[in-house]
Amino acid sequence: MGKCEVCGNEYDKAFTVTRGGESHVFDSFECAIHAMAPLCAHCECRIVGHGMEADGKFFCCAHCANHGEGMRPAMRDRADAGASGILGI
Ligand SMILES: [Zn+2]
Ligand SMILES: [Zn+2]
Repeated sequence: MGKCEVCGNEYDKAFTVTRGGESHVFDSFECAIHAMAPLCAHCECRIVGHGMEADGKFFCCAHCANHGEGMRPAMRDRADAGASGILGI
């Protein structure tokens, strides 16, 4: 039994997401994404895929990273480089 931090729903199938030593309890992935997914610095969508990180900013894809301020040209998706996703789940 757990209580979702986002909507307060008590649900017997609630789950815990741990990131950087902090644990959070959610009843659904929708709530987890709402609370934990970073925003793309370019288009401001929620990043629920691998995403990219450049100069401390998160981007949803290479297209957005290349259109961000001061970004290096020809950024590549982290998935292409074999790195894990930024959510760590
Ligand atoms: Zn919830
Ligand atoms: Zn984007």
